[in-house]
This record gives sequence, structure tokens and C-alpha cells, in this order.
Amino acid sequence: MSRTYDVIVLGLGGMGSSAAWHLAERGVRVLGLEKFGPAHNHGSSHGGSRITRQSYFEGAEYVPLLLRAYELYERLERDTGLDVATLCGGLMAGRPDSRTVAGSLESARTWDLPHELLDAREIRRRFPTLNPADDEIGLYEARAGLLRPETTVTAQLRLAERAGAELHFEEPAIRWAQDGDGVRVETAQGTYTAGQLVICPGAWAPRLLADLGVQITIERQIMYWFQPTGGVGPYLPERHPVYIWEDSADIQVYGFPAIDGPDGGAKVAFFRKNGAPCTPETIDRTVYEHEIDAMAAQAGRHLPTLPGKFLRAATCMYSTTDDEHFVIARHPSHADSVTVACGFSGHGFKFVPVVGEILADLALRGATEHPISLFDPRRFAPPPV
Ligand SMILES: Cc1cc2nc3c(=O)[nH]c(=O)nc-3n(C[C@H](O)[C@H](O)[C@H](O)COP(=O)(O)OP(=O)(O)OC[C@H]3O[C@@H](n4cnc5c(N)ncnc54)[C@H](O)[C@@H]3O)c2cc1C
Repeated sequence: MSRTYDVIVLGLGGMGSSAAWHLAERGVRVLGLEKFGPAHNHGSSHGGSRITRQSYFEGAEYVPLLLRAYELYERLERDTGLDVATLCGGLMAGRPDSRTVAGSLESARTWDLPHELLDAREIRRRFPTLNPADDEIGLYEARAGLLRPETTVTAQLRLAERAGAELHFEEPAIRWAQDGDGVRVETAQGTYTAGQLVICPGAWAPRLLADLGVQITIERQIMYWFQPTGGVGPYLPERHPVYIWEDSADIQVYGFPAIDGPDGGAKVAFFRKNGAPCTPETIDRTVYEHEIDAMAAQAGRHLPTLPGKFLRAATCMYSTTDDEHFVIARHPSHADSVTVACGFSGHGFKFVPVVGEILADLALRGATEHPISLFDPRRFAPPPV
């Protein structure tokens, strides 16, 4: 049977735009289908900034993927001329035995990554905005920094189109199915067939990948922008790192330098904590006074001048698996023709360009050299009775 496309990519957010880029560059006929417009703010890849780092406390297994992602982010900038990344340095702070500090250190040592351990006094000296308690320390990584998610998606879409991908926006897939030895995807505009389907649905995974056998909880998360007391001067990326701060109650606060001009403030948020379960249809996009007060109080403990004046807030969705590791694999029930990438659990953006590379490998060759066994959906399968 002749098919119009070699590969259909369903969802053109962070992961899907990357998959479309890598697939098109390998010379296959690619159709990308996206429910909203390019680089939109209804999913998980918006809000102006994302942290990137290599000393990864979530697991040393992620480090080889990060090293490759850094190379590909550089290529994205070079090939599009867009300003995607600012490596302003990053501080992972907390008590020495906190996961944030101890886990980052373990990854740094395992992979021999450049890093410094700073005690509280040294943190205060180097970064006067930061106020650690005397028993807190920080792992400082000069190559950590921030990524611009909307610009990243724009860059990947641009390279995908340049390499010949056909991208349809405002065209949601209504359903997909296996079709002989290939796949069929229906939208309101028509039915498309291809040999392979790559599904990158973000927060829409519970509906689009119901038969995957993975529990994914969609969580409402909030990003906050405050204008620091005394202005953004000390918060500019030339002198301010990104940071993740684990405090004694096991709450992580993370934030960014001021990248939005003199009146744009600096962004801060809770990592994972307080995420109310939701769906893309039911998420409450209103941010309430008590939430802003709680953020200001928590951030103010570590950065006393940050919560000067509240400027704005925005919501975003995490897609969290039970072990907070990703799902990247051939679909166990459609292993010949469907590849999936979902469940990025609030820490996927820094991997975006390498995930697309992996998805292209899986869709075209059924295998990849990248280490992805941690992301196998079958890890959640119930034990045989
Ligand atoms: C507040 C917040 C802060 C974060 N901070 C960080 C960070 O600092 N560092 C980090 O590494 N990661 C971070 N993350 C996580 C990271 O942003 C996500 O893991 C990543 O963006 C997920 O990309 P995705 O492609 O899976 O989802 P998305 O980018 O949302 O893409 C999914 C796409 O599928 C489309 N779609 C869905 N259904 C259909 C359909 N039926 N037909 C067609 N298209 C469809 C959607 O419209 C969407 O465009 C953060 C996330 C949030 C929300």
C-alpha cells in the first residue's frame, strides 16, 4: 500500500518539534500535526525559561543524554541564529545530605563534570542576592543555565521545515490507529497514512496513550515573576545563576536571573511541590493570592530582595510518572509502527533536542545507541501472576 508519509509526528511541542526536525534531516517524508499554533502556551513548553544543568540529581544515567543535548542546543543556535540558551551558571543548594546537593555531586563525580562546592559564606560572597543558612552548601556548575522554551520550539520547527517537513498547525489528531503494517491518523481535515507514527502528546498523554499501561498524573504548576526590591541589577544573568534550593521541609524552590528587561522581574517557582492534579481541559489558569503569598514567603527565605513586587504568574502542566523518569520507547502494543515520548515529569525540557534524535532512531531503525533503558514503559507492568 502506498503511503503519503514515512512518519507522522503527533504533537509539535518541545519533543515533537525536535522529532520532526531530526526525522526531516534524515531525508524521510514527515507530517507534523499540532492541535494549537507554533510554540503556544497551552501545554508544557512555555513561560520564557527552563533550567539546564549536567550534574543531575535525578540520576547519573541522564548525564550522557545531557552532554549530547548540550551539543545539539549549540547546533540549534548556530543553524538558526536564534538565542536559545544562556549558560549563566547554576547553584544546587541545600543541606549537604539533601538530594539536590548530594545527588548533583554524585552525578558530577561519576561523570567527572566540572563543578565547585561552595559553603554558605562563599555563596553569600559570590552571589549577594542569595542567603543560605550556615549549614547549607551549594554545588555550583558554570555550564548550567537557562533555555528559552518558545525559542527552542521555534528553532526546531524552522529546521524541520527547512529540511522538508510538512507541518500542520491548529489541526488536532482526533484518533490514531494501526493500519496494516503502518498507521492512520484522523483529523477534521482528513485521514493521513504513514509507515511510522511518533506520539509526543505532553499533557494529553492520558487520553492519546490510554493503552500504554503507564500512570501519568497531569499537574497544575505555577511560575511567578517578581520585581526585586532595588531593581533587577544584581539579578542580571552576568552576575546571577539559576538555582534550585532544597530547604529543610524537602521543598525545592528554583529560579532564574532577570532576563526580561528592567521591568520584567525575575522568575521563581516550586519544583514538583503543590501540583494539583488536573487535565488540559480542567486546569484552573487563575493564580490565587494565597499561592502568590506562599511563593513570596518561600522565595524570600533564600533571596530576601526577590519578592519586592508581584508582577505576574502563569500556569503550566507537568506530566508525572510514578518514578518521575521519562517514557521514551516503541509502544509496547504497536511495536512495529508507533514510538512514544511522554511522562517528562517536570524535567524534560533540557533534553528536548536529544529526545528528538532518539525518536528518529526508534522510528526509522527500531533502536538507538543512546542509553534509554530507564525510560522503558514496561517497567510499570504488573508482575506476572
Ligand atoms: C512550570 C514548568 C517548569 C518546568 N521547568 C523545567 C526546567 O526548568 N527544566 C526542564 O528541563 N524541564 C522543565 N519543565 C518540563 C518541560 O518543560 C517539559 O518536560 C517539556 O516541555 C515537555 O515537552 P512535551 O513535548 O512532552 O510537551 P508539550 O511541549 O506540551 O507538547 C505536547 C504537544 O502535543 C500537542 N497535542 C496534544 N494533543 C494533540 C492532538 N490530539 N493532536 C495534535 N497535537 C496534540 C499539544 O498541543 C502540545 O503542543 C517544566 C515544565 C513546567 C510546566
